Amino acid sequence: MHDFRNKIREYELELPSLSIETLQMNITLKCNQACHHCHVDSSPKRTEMMNKDTIDQCLEILREHPQIKNVDITGGAPELNPYFNYLITEAKKSDKHIIVRHNLTVTLDGDPTTHESKLYLPEFFAKQGVEIICSLPCYLESNVEMQRGPGVFQKSIESIRMLNEAGYGIENSGLMLNLVHNPVGAYLPSSQEALEKDYKEHLWKNYKVKFNNLYAITNMPIHRFREQLERAGNYEIYMEKLENAFNPDAAIGVMCRSMLSVSYDGRIFDCDFNQMLNIQVATDEPVTVFNFDYNKLSSHDIIFDTHCFGCTAGAGSSCAGVIS
Ligand code: SF4
Ligand code: SF4
Repeated sequence: MHDFRNKIREYELELPSLSIETLQMNITLKCNQACHHCHVDSSPKRTEMMNKDTIDQCLEILREHPQIKNVDITGGAPELNPYFNYLITEAKKSDKHIIVRHNLTVTLDGDPTTHESKLYLPEFFAKQGVEIICSLPCYLESNVEMQRGPGVFQKSIESIRMLNEAGYGIENSGLMLNLVHNPVGAYLPSSQEALEKDYKEHLWKNYKVKFNNLYAITNMPIHRFREQLERAGNYEIYMEKLENAFNPDAAIGVMCRSMLSVSYDGRIFDCDFNQMLNIQVATDEPVTVFNFDYNKLSSHDIIFDTHCFGCTAGAGSSCAGVIS
């Protein structure tokens, strides 16, 4: 049932790993929010943090491998790791393209345990020239609050306003602010292009805020979202939808072919989803950033499983939205 490997055999697809262009680092599972669909089960109660030794080792890998062009920093809310600013400023020195997965509200909420203010973030991001990718599952307040909790929509809008003031999303500033849409229920996202147009019109008309691109992503049937589907008796229905919408072109472009994902404790995975399912990269011995071997990792077998249908349904889904 929902055998992904069978599906790729059926379509005679070869999906070997390619050269690694992106290192995604999950530097904490702590978050100021606890969204219903969160595939990493983050919340203010999580304490997992990447320590400085592991961050330094990742920085060393970035310095030693010019083939790795991008560093994609995620969490939780990555800004809650005490070495977040250090990581960004040091990675910048290696001339990498830096992406931060930013939940918007952390700027106004600050750290939920230490109460440290994060109001400096928009200016800091702008100074470092990082690309910001932010979740805003819908342009309607009620839909956002259903998924992410009360008060989140207005805080997100205020945070986008602060990013706009720092130059993000503004023509010719070179500062990229991209938003992420994901469906609030057990269905696939609609057209990314049409959604982007609707988001832009609605957010400008009602709140006078701007952004660059919208990425439409599919909810992955793992962790909290899977539990939610199971509680509602929708898991099988959702999986069938994903499998029936299998798109071979999207399969060819899955992000795990050119990226690796590092967990807070330095272990290496094919992607963030495999990381959350604790499916470590397939090599003879457990791989961490401390025994990183670029050549081996650029030609290893990716571990595909049932949840991979979430990446290959419809137009496909990756960290940068649709695939095909
Ligand atoms: S903001 Fe992101 S990381 Fe935090 S709980 Fe929500 S989905 Fe998870
Ligand atoms: S979920 Fe599967 S297809 Fe998607 S990125 Fe991860 S390993 Fe690749």
